[in-house]
Amino acid sequence: MRRSAGLFVRSKGAFPKGVNSPVRFFEPYPFFTRKARGSKIITEDRDELVDYCMAYGPLIFGHAPRFVSIAVVRQLRRGTVYGTPSCYEVRLAEDVKRAYGSISLIRFVNSGAEAAGSAVRLARAYTGRDAVVKIDGGYHGAVDPLMVNGRGSDMKAFSTGIPEDTCKQTRTLAFNDLSDLSNIDEDVACVILEPVMGNVGLVRPEKEYLREVRRACDEAGAVLIFDEVITGFRVAKGGAQSLYGVTPDITTLGKILGGGFPIGAFGGKEEIMRMVAPEGGMFNAGTFNGNPVSMVAGAAVVEMLDEEVYRALRDSTDRLCGGISDALDDAGIDFFLSKLGSAFTVFLTRGTVTDYATAKRADAGRFMKLHRGLMERGVYLPPSQFECCFMSTAHSGEDIEKTVEAFVGAASEARRWSGRS
Ligand SMILES: *Cc1c(COP(=O)(O)O)cnc(C)c1O
Repeated sequence: MRRSAGLFVRSKGAFPKGVNSPVRFFEPYPFFTRKARGSKIITEDRDELVDYCMAYGPLIFGHAPRFVSIAVVRQLRRGTVYGTPSCYEVRLAEDVKRAYGSISLIRFVNSGAEAAGSAVRLARAYTGRDAVVKIDGGYHGAVDPLMVNGRGSDMKAFSTGIPEDTCKQTRTLAFNDLSDLSNIDEDVACVILEPVMGNVGLVRPEKEYLREVRRACDEAGAVLIFDEVITGFRVAKGGAQSLYGVTPDITTLGKILGGGFPIGAFGGKEEIMRMVAPEGGMFNAGTFNGNPVSMVAGAAVVEMLDEEVYRALRDSTDRLCGGISDALDDAGIDFFLSKLGSAFTVFLTRGTVTDYATAKRADAGRFMKLHRGLMERGVYLPPSQFECCFMSTAHSGEDIEKTVEAFVGAASEARRWSGRS
């Protein structure tokens, strides 16, 4: 028996469905990772996989880059949590402020979800309003007021345990739909959105969309929150806001910011951020907030990010995506490849993808068959049609060739993918 199969039996005895986060499960059972280095995961079954999941986003320099390990080991000797201010959190905050002109004050927390929950609470505190607007299909972590999808009367929580009254405070918009912006009125505390959607697969904003959202928020007096947990330091050092030239009032960050360690952050306009405790009455606190290990790992990574890095990532991602497109075209498979910088999604669908409704037309069952075919050929994509693939600087020309060959091989089996699984 493969070691992963045996571990999964034990894991099911320890965790719901054997996992600690839902997307990690896939049929019949997920492989267990033994170690990971650079672009590769080594499984407990001794398989070597070129990894495009990259832990769902944090690893822009690949797994275990040496310069991060060195910074972290040095920090371990100095202590792992202090419960006092430290120079390490000041250094990372100043790094972030240099890259994000919209952030004048920041609070470090431990996850993107915490950051989103706090940002919404802060917007409500600042405006004295209750209504929250999100995008249909937008994801911000397991945060009660943001765990709804669907539109209008079809809107509902995608989790049980969310009170009806909580759902009633939330409204949804279709991404890229300007006519929906009329839902942003003077009852709205905030609009929170991923400026580039990343949790229905990658969906880019159309020209002017973000600018129009900004305008609607200004007219209604609503706070604009950009959730840049994926896009921050990924699509550009200054995030999607620098790329599209639209300034939010509050930004949430996470993933890459922690250099491979747990982190989240929310920051923005001074006038709003001064409402955070202890300066103001909006409470946020955390034993591990600003923990020095995440701080030094994050600073090491952020300080290495320059134009050169982004250009190299863009070039290698373009090369990979070109090869994937040719492979799928040659096999006569319908697809829509969405890409920005070093993030991309291969949607198995005929039309273009501009929002959640069009993303959902992709054939998730076929995608999992492609996924399996790729895994058998040593390539690991995130195990869902509705996630982003990520390139890192550790992905080599050889990795790209191997990946394209895997797509050619897996696509040649497409006839066997017939129907939805
Ligand atoms: C991953 C993610 C989150 C949640 O971050 P966690 O650290 O997993 O809590 C929030 N928003 C977006 C856009 C994300 O991709």
